[in-house]
Amino acid sequence: MVLKNYPLDSLNTFGLKAKAALYCEIDSAETLASLWKSNLFVMNKPLVLGGGSNLLFLKDYIGIVLKNNLRGREVLQEGEESVQIELGAGENWHQAVLWTLEQGWGGLENLSFIPGTVGAAPIQNIGAYGVELESVFESLTAFDMLYGTTVEFNKVQCAFGYRESIFKKTENKGRYFILSVRLRLNKHHQPKMDYGDIKAVLERKSISNPGIKEVSNAVIEIRQSKLPDPAVLGNSGSFFKNPVVSKTIAEKIRANYPEVKIFEVDEERVKIPAGWLIEASGWKGKRIGNVGMHEKQALVLVNYGNATGAELWEHAQKVIDDIENRFGIRLQPEVNVIG
Ligand code: NAP
Repeated sequence: MVLKNYPLDSLNTFGLKAKAALYCEIDSAETLASLWKSNLFVMNKPLVLGGGSNLLFLKDYIGIVLKNNLRGREVLQEGEESVQIELGAGENWHQAVLWTLEQGWGGLENLSFIPGTVGAAPIQNIGAYGVELESVFESLTAFDMLYGTTVEFNKVQCAFGYRESIFKKTENKGRYFILSVRLRLNKHHQPKMDYGDIKAVLERKSISNPGIKEVSNAVIEIRQSKLPDPAVLGNSGSFFKNPVVSKTIAEKIRANYPEVKIFEVDEERVKIPAGWLIEASGWKGKRIGNVGMHEKQALVLVNYGNATGAELWEHAQKVIDDIENRFGIRLQPEVNVIG
């Protein structure tokens, strides 16, 4: 059922007051196809809403918001070594990860506790603690809202990169509604623990030979200790992408800031944590009115009270401009800014 003037306050983790001119919950591919056939998307630009954890509404949305409610967890194929599963794109990502771990299938443990839905995962090739979605990804099915067809994308066609995929290209924004995602997980999995604090947490707990569940618990603990709970403080997780820059730029920064964190990407490029740039510029924990970058995790933009989307965006712009002036790096938002 298509609803009018629908409030989105509880459907975005910043807790912003915004309305959708039109709103519809999608619980089957058929519902979506029939909306397409009624030509609704021609006059009303669709916006797909998953967990609402990657959105900043600057004002009301004048098109149609499509809430992805497609559920399903299915084993498509099982062998000695691995299992192929299919997940409905509206499934909660973390709950789906926990389900795979309970079955004893490895591959997603480092991606525990990431907010959002399964359908959002391939869009930015979610990654954490040295693992990216593409390492387990096989294919997905999507509805093309331009041509009204159902299409399949394999891994190559998704063109995954660092927090990148074909779905983030300007010409594809808002074009595809992801229906389901297929992953291949391992039955005898060697978890990856050589990243960040994972090993330290396991050592503190005296876990010497951790399995996937223990690694997942360590990741959850690390994330919970740093990230504010959106139910308490409105936020959308990491607000900015970690910039990938040339080694020349990084070396110039290192000359003035020997403590800068630099991670090699390839022969020419390195990654500098956006959180480090924000902290080094004095924005970490600094609150202005209703907004600020979080005190424990500089990358998280926080709505401390009744901030509007415009206030949050204005603050983000100040941070972006200041960092560009200091370091010559222009941060890009990771969240989708809906203006
Ligand atoms: P963090 O672990 O403090 O890392 C900050 C930055 O340093 C990231 O760019 C990270 O690269 C890089 N880094 C740290 N240790 C590294 C290592 N051993 N090798 C290579 N690069 C290293 O970041 P955080 O903000 O607390 O987040 C924790 C993890 O969750 C990170 O992996 C982060 O990327 C991930 N995360 C992902 C998303 C998303 O997928 N949209 C959103 C929020 C956080 P990587 O980004 O390659 O890890």
